Amino acid sequence: MFFIVLVIALILFVYHNNSLRRVVDKEAKATLNNVSSQNVISLDNEIQSGQKLLKSLASSIEKLQEYDISYILENIDDYRDAYGFYTMGVIDKNGICYNTLGEVLDLSNKDYFEEAMDGIAGITESYMTEDNSLRLNTYTQPIYKDGKVEMVLTATYKSSDFSEYLDITSFDGKGHSIVIDTVGNPVYMSNNTTDDQSNIVNELKENDEDGFRQLEADMKELKSGYLEYKYEGEEYLAYYEPLHINEWYLITYVPKDYIYQNADIINQNVLLVDIVMYAVLVLFTGIFLLFYGRYQNKISSIVFYDELTGEENAEYLKIQFDNMPSNEKENKSLIVLDIDKFKVINLMYGTEVGDHVLKYIARIFHEELPGDPIYKDRADLFIAILKHIGRDEIISKLQRVNDRIKRDIENKKIIPFEISIGVCSLEGGEDLHRIYSNALIAKSEIKGNVNQNFKFFDEQNKNKIIENRQFEAKFQEAIKNGEFEVWYQPKYDMRNNEVCGAEALIRWKKVNGSLISPVKFIPVFENNGQIIRLDEEVIRIVCMDMKEMMSKGYDVKPVSINLSRIHLKHPGIIEKIKEMIKEYEIDPSKIIFEITESAFLDDNRVLNKTVSDLHNLGFEVDIDDYGTGTSTLSSLSASNFDTLKLDKSFIDKIGDCRMDIIIKSTIAMANQLNMKVIAEGVETKEQVDFLTDNHCFIAQGYYYSKPVNKSEYISILSQRC
Ligand code: C2E
Ligand code: MG
Ligand code: MG
Repeated sequence: MFFIVLVIALILFVYHNNSLRRVVDKEAKATLNNVSSQNVISLDNEIQSGQKLLKSLASSIEKLQEYDISYILENIDDYRDAYGFYTMGVIDKNGICYNTLGEVLDLSNKDYFEEAMDGIAGITESYMTEDNSLRLNTYTQPIYKDGKVEMVLTATYKSSDFSEYLDITSFDGKGHSIVIDTVGNPVYMSNNTTDDQSNIVNELKENDEDGFRQLEADMKELKSGYLEYKYEGEEYLAYYEPLHINEWYLITYVPKDYIYQNADIINQNVLLVDIVMYAVLVLFTGIFLLFYGRYQNKISSIVFYDELTGEENAEYLKIQFDNMPSNEKENKSLIVLDIDKFKVINLMYGTEVGDHVLKYIARIFHEELPGDPIYKDRADLFIAILKHIGRDEIISKLQRVNDRIKRDIENKKIIPFEISIGVCSLEGGEDLHRIYSNALIAKSEIKGNVNQNFKFFDEQNKNKIIENRQFEAKFQEAIKNGEFEVWYQPKYDMRNNEVCGAEALIRWKKVNGSLISPVKFIPVFENNGQIIRLDEEVIRIVCMDMKEMMSKGYDVKPVSINLSRIHLKHPGIIEKIKEMIKEYEIDPSKIIFEITESAFLDDNRVLNKTVSDLHNLGFEVDIDDYGTGTSTLSSLSASNFDTLKLDKSFIDKIGDCRMDIIIKSTIAMANQLNMKVIAEGVETKEQVDFLTDNHCFIAQGYYYSKPVNKSEYISILSQRC
């Protein structure tokens, strides 16, 4: 940018300088033209006055009775004296000239004599006297007798005398004028012109053919013009224009150095001003660009860089991707890298360690996969673009990263953590967002796979996306058509095998009768926010079912309803719940809300507020899926839950000594915190025994009952009544 400004300033400068030069050049030529015109006028006047004099003398002579040459000579001598002629004379019919100097010359063979005898008055080109001492010009004027030319009157002057008329002082005496005849010989020249200098035409002929040809052509057409030529190493500017006598030309010339001298002074001053101006301009532009550049850098470092890791961010990748030609997308894949349970790392070790892990990831990527750019995305996500030939190369690259992490963990260079990676090829993908989402989908497929922490996006994922889109599209209609049903999974008191409650579990019953599991659609609706409406629908159905059961006289047990963690960001659900229990006249003690343990990863203050709002309305609140996520003891106590639902993954491990200890102590801890404990996913007698032995008495699982529809649940309730 700065360079462009510099170039523009230079171009402007040169242009400005050239236009100034053109103006000065024009000025100089105009001055030359003026001087030349004045010379032409004064020469014309002088020559014409000489001719007039001769004409009037001739007519006085013609009035004489007899043409007595000595008488005539005597009389005209006075005029010679008065007019400063060198000599005057009379040429008789035979061409013999008698002049006032007493000379008798034979001019019978001179052209001007013959022309005068033919009645043509004129003036000769300049010629040298026989002894070569003087350069002369002669006026001729025919004298008639009886209608015929009898004699010729002549007046001769020294060419040098005429030169004074060319001496109009111009250009401090540095400019001169010469008159040349039709063949280029000098006729007159100003006094201080040397013979050589006057020989412009020869000079041109020898050294400047083009200039000579131009002059020759113009002289033929009696045109004026400018000439530039060199003489003795000095450059001259000349102006030529025709006189009105003998097709002679006046050439006025001046050394270029002189004529441009003033211009150069002006130029120098203007140049100085220009230089200062442009320098100031360039300086200011430079300063502006410097600050602007810094500002831009700052902005782009805010917009395009991650402050913590110093890596470019996803925004930057977006721009790079948009400008990437499609052939560059070949053999490249986008990977999304996620640090598993990163919030737990922050919770357990503090954010400083968390930050260290993020920086570590960026660093080892550069070290292990140099040449493959990595970008920091939001939170604990990274994106990288890997170059590869075939899938095997990606796998080996990811393996390299994995091995490095494993090694560093073993060597205690970094705290233990795991990563998950989703991979999607760039090829054929026009939309980065789509590629990124595909990689995220692939990553989400890893869950639970302990053998491999990366996954490629493939057709199966694609079908899943299509299916998810269909869920989204059909949601409203399904709500309207009542396609969502609430099923109930009874909870049992393991001590007496009595039903002591149930969990409301949603099912999507398609028009064709097929059931869709919530595992499939809940994440989709959580993703797009439709879960808010769906949970509301579940609460409404549960309230309705409960009202129906109550009206039929059943011993209605408390039903727990799952509240998605998405509500924590949209707290309007509390008001809705209030309205619904009022509308259906439900005692809050009959409804329990379950909030999944993973909600702890979000904002705990909002979570606590929601829990206490629900408590204030009289509801119990359970912590669901305990053990799958990341909840810590501190958050457990802070959130004041009523019940802890031990996740199936815990229960499944009953029998493993270490897990037995953990489960045992978890139950003990919950009890000490005055929390009830429900075991979820109880499938075996051994599990029942272990749990009861360890003071967990409520179970929900296939051992007792799978989730059942409303009527089946009612019949279970009625059997127990
Ligand atoms: P969850 O709240 O943890 O529900 C327990 C899940 O475990 C249910 O699956 C249930 O059928 C299953 N289960 C219970 N005992 C056993 C057992 O012994 N063996 C096996 N294999 N599974 C057992 P389901 O109904 O498919 O629900 C899955 C998840 O979907 C629920 O997990 C909950 O997170 C979510 N969900 C279900 N209904 C709703 C709802 O109305 N609202 C929201 N927000 N989420 C819901
Ligand atoms: Mg639940
Ligand atoms: Mg659960």
